[in-house]
Amino acid sequence: MTPELMAAGAKALAEHRSKTGSVIVGEEVYFGQGVALYVDEITVSFDGFRALNKLSLTIDVGELRCIIGPNGAGKTTMMDIITGKTRPDSGKVFFGSNIDLLRLSEPQIAQAGVGRKFQKPTVYEQLSVFENLELALKADRRVRAALFHRLNGEQMDRIGEVLALIHLQDQAQRTAGLLSHGQKQWLEIGMLLAQDPKLLLLDEPVAGMNDVEANEMGAIFRQLVADGMAVLLISADLEELVGLSDTIRVILRGRLSGDFDPDVVTRDQLGAAMTGAAADEGTLR
Ligand code: ADP
Ligand code: MG
Repeated sequence: MTPELMAAGAKALAEHRSKTGSVIVGEEVYFGQGVALYVDEITVSFDGFRALNKLSLTIDVGELRCIIGPNGAGKTTMMDIITGKTRPDSGKVFFGSNIDLLRLSEPQIAQAGVGRKFQKPTVYEQLSVFENLELALKADRRVRAALFHRLNGEQMDRIGEVLALIHLQDQAQRTAGLLSHGQKQWLEIGMLLAQDPKLLLLDEPVAGMNDVEANEMGAIFRQLVADGMAVLLISADLEELVGLSDTIRVILRGRLSGDFDPDVVTRDQLGAAMTGAAADEGTLR
């Protein structure tokens, strides 16, 4: 795309925003009572099949919420609902206490401060780590005006911060394609962080990592929540979640269990819940 085309696109977008600038669009999220995400009784069916069945969930500011579930349980569908990709048949989804996500489009939800990482890393392989972060930063609506300018001091600082957060300070000039699988995942999280999200949704981010990478990923998550971010982490593998959070929930056939204490629950119990042996209501709780 030429700079002229990009400038024209940005201008059209700004005009569109000013016209659609109702109370919802562009409103800052407000975290009353410290709640970052409030999902209440979401039900969604595909051709009569209930992928989510009255699923409810809250995530607090500064909380790392871990959910585990086998393939087909509804994990990705849950994220699709939160990010506006799929609309539920019924239920409520609020970001903070004021933003009704069911009334916003996918890009508006991202702009409001909800970052989503998909399963496969999608970094620009030919660019350096630094350039990847630079692009992500410039995609942020608040710095759009600076699109064709050199990075200012504040932006350089932000990239430096993100590089430290994702443990890639020493790799800034490295071509992203040469990073290990784990490092690419960190970089992708860094690209989300460059846009300053308040809520991060991570779909199986640890899958395919070796133990060293997975441990380091855990340290990155802990730092993010210590900095006040709310994080939803979903996984199909219990090993990936051990040591990350005080509680784990199981999703099964579109329903969410109560909290398991990972220090108390045995792997057998969780495993049984995962395979459906304990799926009868009541025993999952
Ligand atoms: P998970 O991520 O836990 O593996 P998904 O959320 O992808 O599970 O899927 C949950 C169920 O909903 C699966 O049975 C899947 O086949 C079904 N499903 C998901 N998306 C669609 C769709 N767009 N159309 C029809 N069925 C779907
Ligand atoms: Mg999935």
